[in-house]
Amino acid sequence: MAASSRLISRLTLVTGGGSGIGRAVCQRFASEGASVVVADRNEESANQTLELLSRDHKGQGHLALGVDVSSKDSVEKLVTSIQVKFMCLSCFLAAPPSVCVNAAGITQDEFLLKMEEDEFDKVIEVNLKGTFLVTQAVSKALVSAGAVKGSIITVGSIVGKVGNIGQVNYSASKAGVEGLTRTAAKELSKFGIRCNCVLPGFITTPMTDKVPEKVIDKLTAVIPMGRMGEPAEVADACAFLASDDSRYITGISIEVAGGLFIG
Ligand code: NAP
Repeated sequence: MAASSRLISRLTLVTGGGSGIGRAVCQRFASEGASVVVADRNEESANQTLELLSRDHKGQGHLALGVDVSSKDSVEKLVTSIQVKFMCLSCFLAAPPSVCVNAAGITQDEFLLKMEEDEFDKVIEVNLKGTFLVTQAVSKALVSAGAVKGSIITVGSIVGKVGNIGQVNYSASKAGVEGLTRTAAKELSKFGIRCNCVLPGFITTPMTDKVPEKVIDKLTAVIPMGRMGEPAEVADACAFLASDDSRYITGISIEVAGGLFIG
């Protein structure tokens, strides 16, 4: 199937869809025919992404909704709202998203010796617990609806594998989502649900805009491909994992890092 039509009629939930990598995923998936639910705690930015989708890919039923992925209640309301909104009008059956991309994430950097407990907890709550809550809610909805296939993709990070100075909380959360994903893949395969991660290296987004320029220069110098990545390059890997082109792939992590930390 041509890449541009691989995701036709796939209802896709993208958390963190209001910014950076999540927004690029929304745009790429819509360009391949998906109906995209843009979910973000920042409703204004989610609506801005929705405007882009509605302008460039009309008539595919895109939607923007607020969510705090670290809250069970908020995540459950999000999944229920999607199912009500996309209910089959002829059979009245709820339609859960068959594709989900966990892209919501935060950083709160500090050296291990100085980090406060709440700085550690907050990052784990959003990045790791948030991934758990969304993955659980979406897969429960898919299993209850008797769906025969699904794809859940989590945006981890290369630093979950190799660590990074000043990111003890973040690197722990990103190592955690890989373990979560491998376990979810084993448990959910029997329901036709595949679970995979993408591990970006250093990507130009509002998250990395906070990093001082001299640090960016040092980082870029050690990237074999000699540059930061673009959000669209991460979205390309997500689209592959969402599509049937990856139908026999589950429980893996794809590095999108320009060769950073090869081996
Ligand atoms: P970003 O531009 O800051 O986008 C993250 C989005 O997630 C923001 O819209 C943010 O809203 C939202 N968000 C934060 N907490 C949330 C919550 N509790 N519930 C719902 N939404 C929430 O960052 P990005 O660089 O695109 O990052 C996307 C993902 O890629 C993250 O998981 C990040 O860890 C991962 N990643 C990024 C890089 C990189 O170099 N950029 C590298 C590796 C991995 P606010 O604007 O309100 O914070």
